[in-house]
Amino acid sequence: MTRDQRSKDNWALLHAVDLAAKKGVPVAVVFNLVTAYMHAGARQFGFMVRGLQHLEQSLGKLHIPFFLLKGDPVENIPRIVRDAGAGALITDFGPLRLGRQWRAGVVEKISIPFYEVDAHNVVPVWIASDKRESAARTIRPKITRLLPEFLVEYPELRAQTVGWTGMPPPRVDWDGILEEALCGKGGFLTDQRLKKYKSFRNDPAIPEALSGLSPFIHFGQLSAQRAALEARKHRGKHKESVDCFLEELIIRRELADNFCHYEPEYDNHKAAANWALESLKLHQKDKREFTYTEEEWEKGKTHDKLWNASQLELIYGGKMHGFMRMYWAKKILEWSNSAEEALKLALYLNDKYEIDGRDPNGVVGCMWAIYGIHDQGWTERAVFGKIRYMNYNGCKRKFDIEKYIARVEVTVREARKAHGKVQPKTTAVIGSSEA
Ligand SMILES: Cc1cc2nc3c(=O)[nH]c(=O)nc-3n(C[C@H](O)[C@H](O)[C@H](O)COP(=O)(O)OP(=O)(O)OC[C@H]3O[C@@H](n4cnc5c(N)ncnc54)[C@H](O)[C@@H]3O)c2cc1C
Repeated sequence: MTRDQRSKDNWALLHAVDLAAKKGVPVAVVFNLVTAYMHAGARQFGFMVRGLQHLEQSLGKLHIPFFLLKGDPVENIPRIVRDAGAGALITDFGPLRLGRQWRAGVVEKISIPFYEVDAHNVVPVWIASDKRESAARTIRPKITRLLPEFLVEYPELRAQTVGWTGMPPPRVDWDGILEEALCGKGGFLTDQRLKKYKSFRNDPAIPEALSGLSPFIHFGQLSAQRAALEARKHRGKHKESVDCFLEELIIRRELADNFCHYEPEYDNHKAAANWALESLKLHQKDKREFTYTEEEWEKGKTHDKLWNASQLELIYGGKMHGFMRMYWAKKILEWSNSAEEALKLALYLNDKYEIDGRDPNGVVGCMWAIYGIHDQGWTERAVFGKIRYMNYNGCKRKFDIEKYIARVEVTVREARKAHGKVQPKTTAVIGSSEA
């Protein structure tokens, strides 16, 4: 189990159990913890480990042993396969490079059948499309056509009846592991919030209009398919909101997996369209009105109080509002010396601080903002060229900036209170100069 860390609603686990039942043998779940993972730190680690602790308990109720390994998966997984005398290895799917390398490394060292099951997407990524799609509009009809087949109720996972006779899983020192971690944060989809989705999802001053599900979906603690099935139950009452939510949850999210799966250069300029590259190049030498050091960016010390607030929301809340993520990345492009530099910084900050970071959605979010991936050319302007532009005044027209900033200030205060001495190394003063 890697990306989809749950016992319920998990096609990879269901497939493993089904395969084992046919052979009359038991199933065990192995999770390999890698502590140094793509800028992930205590916040993501803590959030994930708490989830794994629950997972161990829920698997226990199903009589499925849970092995938590630490270290290099390419060494550990083949070893446990060998020691347990496993007959088959089943894993979930993720399109990012590191996971692929691990799987390729494991495959080389084992000789039993190995299955990769897409337990993250409603429509498995390789079934939805066999190529990199250029935009939501091209993948939407392909996914939508397959929803009657794939957006269905899951079979129930019954308790395992064939007893595990292999080595018992060593007791996990959860407290020890958690000691390395701080806390995570999240919310849940409710009817009250769902109904606001259509009208207020782009209003960062009203964050409860969003589901807040991305951390749970990122770590696979919640199946997106389950979220979709639940949301659909409210469609009678809140049709527009539910459709809008499903567009993000299914189409946009699965488009991000499609991009990372079929585009080997998913996190650099080589994946960008010619129009985007040419126009960025044309404006490479344009004078930047402002530029900042990495430290100034990271600490939220630009001249723009709105940008600073979004950065502090990220640092102290662990999850920036979806609309602000767009503004945040666009301004990194505007105030960096080059698009390459901007992308590097955006991915670094995103992956270091977002609990839901290190995800295809984050890759595509940053590539969309900076390189126009899945977007089209817009009116040409300085620095951006034809890449879509966003500005402070646009935000001012769309939502109450002061209310958003006040909300972030509360988040900062609460986080400081909750963490006591353990404060993020940054200032909590939201820059006061006007943008
Ligand atoms: C620069 C930038 C960086 C981003 N980084 C990440 C990231 O690291 N991890 C991440 O999960 N998302 C990322 N996103 C996408 C999106 O902003 C978040 O998924 C969303 O804000 C999460 O909050 P929510 O769960 O409350 O969203 P909701 O609006 O309630 O959406 C429900 C679910 O739909 C999916 N979703 C929503 N918006 C998008 C989108 N634009 N693209 C793909 N899927 C979407 C997510 O799984 C989300 O949990 C990024 C977007 C941008 C522009």
